[in-house]
Amino acid sequence: MPIAHVALPVAAETTFDYWCPESLALARGSVVRVRLGTRNLVGVVTAVADTPRIADVKLAPIADVLDVPRVADDVLELAAFIAAYYEEAPGLAYALGVPPLTGARSAARAKAPVDLDAPQVAHELNAAQSAAVAAIVQSHGQFATFLVNGVTGSGKTEIYLGAADRAFADGKQVLMLVPEINLTPQLVARIRAARPGLRVATLHSALAAGERRAAWMAAASGEAQLVLGTRLAVFAPLPQLGLIVVDEEHDASYKQQDNVRYHARDAAIWRAHRRGVPIVLGSATPSLESWHAANEGRYRRIDIPSRADPRAQLPHVTFSSHRAARGTDGIGEALRAAIALRLARREQSLVFVNRRGFAPSLICAACKWDAQCTRCSARLTTHRVPPSLRCHHCGHVEALPTACPSCGNVDLVPLGLGTQRLERALVAAFPGARIARVDRDSTHGKHAFATVRDQMEAQEIDILVGTQMLAKGHDFPRLTLVGILGADNALYSADFRATERLAALMLQVAGRAGRAGLPGEVIVQTDFADHPAFVALAAHDYATLAESLLEERKAAQLPPFTHAAVLAAEAHQRSDVDAFLAAGHVSALALAADQVDVFSPVSALLARRAGFERGQLVVQSERRAALQRFLAAWRAELLAMPGRRVRWSLDVDPAGFG
Ligand SMILES: [Zn+2]
Ligand SMILES: [Zn+2]
Repeated sequence: MPIAHVALPVAAETTFDYWCPESLALARGSVVRVRLGTRNLVGVVTAVADTPRIADVKLAPIADVLDVPRVADDVLELAAFIAAYYEEAPGLAYALGVPPLTGARSAARAKAPVDLDAPQVAHELNAAQSAAVAAIVQSHGQFATFLVNGVTGSGKTEIYLGAADRAFADGKQVLMLVPEINLTPQLVARIRAARPGLRVATLHSALAAGERRAAWMAAASGEAQLVLGTRLAVFAPLPQLGLIVVDEEHDASYKQQDNVRYHARDAAIWRAHRRGVPIVLGSATPSLESWHAANEGRYRRIDIPSRADPRAQLPHVTFSSHRAARGTDGIGEALRAAIALRLARREQSLVFVNRRGFAPSLICAACKWDAQCTRCSARLTTHRVPPSLRCHHCGHVEALPTACPSCGNVDLVPLGLGTQRLERALVAAFPGARIARVDRDSTHGKHAFATVRDQMEAQEIDILVGTQMLAKGHDFPRLTLVGILGADNALYSADFRATERLAALMLQVAGRAGRAGLPGEVIVQTDFADHPAFVALAAHDYATLAESLLEERKAAQLPPFTHAAVLAAEAHQRSDVDAFLAAGHVSALALAADQVDVFSPVSALLARRAGFERGQLVVQSERRAALQRFLAAWRAELLAMPGRRVRWSLDVDPAGFG
């Protein structure tokens, strides 16, 4: 009797054996329903064998084989790779490849691939774009990794589509990953205009279950020519895969931070290699990992140094003192004058500060008390809409105090600058202007962000205020001024990627200015204008910054010159965290050969979050294989350790040590 190895979505280290009733047609990749203990679970068959792996155990039968496409071989292998590489429970990794099951009944009504009938003339490629496309299509039918390093507005989407045309002409499918759900409608609309008739399916978590299932089925049948989606789309079934594109490849949201901690860009590279197809990574500010890989010749870098629209110049960048702007709710003289000029010219301005809320703290002027979260080692953010104190780490909300809880003083001061304060200051400074704010608090509704975008396009907004949600991919022809506030905060960060992230964010935000014929201007309020990140911004020279940051990383033996993993632990009692990490440290030292460095356990940067004390231990090695061998052995010992009061995780290639 055949035995199926079934991967189930539980944190177990193995797959489970079930016997297959003869009535069920079953193969590797089949999606099945089984009982595990008292639970009914959906799993995927990873192998079919003749005999059970453990003798004399009464096996349960497979209850049902679901009527969905089998999980493809390369997706199964991708899941196995992710489980092994990221040291995750295999069942949880395989679950990422299981098709969306709910909403099966509504699938017929959901429109499968997006109907594309808004015809417009496709853009002609310029010389730089044509050369990039030519280089990529030369690798048609074979694995190669390209890094398209193109300044903002250089027309990377046209390069992706130009390369994709070669795949489409061959009847192949293209997978395009984007970092944010918010970007997909605009991108689909642009693709729709450029390639009328192309069959596109979108996959992201905000879709209704029926829509997601329909898109998945369209990908699995080969009907969808272009599958466009966020992180999870890297697991989409693509029987005719011919090309993968990862847009904004530097974006941190490609790294999943919980459950299975995989990096979708790196998973995509693995999949392209496995399928023998080219992969294109695109960014105006490539990650240092990718930049380094290109330096080493593992990726081919293609530079696009100028904007696609010959009328569009890169914006002119100037600096003004942040300190001098303090008495003005953040808006200095230079920025104020520049906004007034835009209003007079009926052009649009964007003012960026990467902090939502009114002010990042509330302090007592008399006794220096400050509002702290009771559950986290962090300050509470003052909000005015609605009035409250909020923790941005755990979501805790409390009323704004009317007097200092410590000394009774009524003079409480919101300190620092958030989007709400900036919005209020702009309203006061420019009474007639139409001002809109975009941050996570303002865009709760599904369509709120789209509404603001439409209003910007219709020129119903004069000044847009917001966080990094505004940084990416949006293209507004009459937006000619960008103000960047509060950037200096990032310079104090303990995160080793802080400068890289700051530079990327600023170049992206600045890139919103002057996309069409009107010249763009960027005003940065900083007290550190000679910092390399600001110098790079002013010179539009990311390359020099990337090279100098890589020198620093090399000197400090940080990624990408070393490969790292973080053991993170949390518990209600600090002593439990310390005991677990101390035991983990002893185990690591015993296992580590001389190729693996084991650091001492330390408190996390955010030492307490949502009532949990947090600590961590970093291990690293210059040799990937040595680290992988070490991690596998170490994880086995960690799993065997007592410590039920401790929640822990291993994060391979962590986004940061924090
Ligand atoms: Zn006080
Ligand atoms: Zn909190």
